[in-house]
Amino acid sequence: MIAQRLIEDARAAGLSIEVEGADLIVEADCEMPPDLLASLRQHKAELIAVLVVSKPSKVQRWRDEFEERAAIREYDGGYTRAEAERLAWGEIENRWHKEHGERLSVDICAGCRRPIDQSEALDQIDGNRVHVDRNFACLIKYGERWRGTARRAILDMGLKPPAEVDRR
Ligand SMILES: [Zn+2]
Repeated sequence: MIAQRLIEDARAAGLSIEVEGADLIVEADCEMPPDLLASLRQHKAELIAVLVVSKPSKVQRWRDEFEERAAIREYDGGYTRAEAERLAWGEIENRWHKEHGERLSVDICAGCRRPIDQSEALDQIDGNRVHVDRNFACLIKYGERWRGTARRAILDMGLKPPAEVDRR
């Protein structure tokens, strides 16, 4: 079946394809091969039909991701199960933040939420900025805030945190 083949080819090429409503969302970290893109476009309806049937729920995807990351840490990284789960949890918090976390205007500090003006600021990897002060208070405050938000969102989806994260 062509749709199944195309999906496999696209994933092998590093593309992510997903269905959002009636749309096919194709994303890539690298440049998309034009031939492949043209084929995807041409077979859009079939692709959507195949993907909808095989689409795991959002919650299931986050669960799988957590499990997969924990397994990699445990079996490839040689960590204990508890440590592997703790690291995996931190990684999915990061991932959630990357996908859904808030983005503030560049002239607002993501830590204290006051204007940055002419003060020294630190650019974060997520595009937000924080004041630089001697104790990195804004940086720390921002880290706690986004992690907390990500953690609550993940918990709201019903994922259970590893025991060590629970005590944090
Ligand atoms: Zn600040």
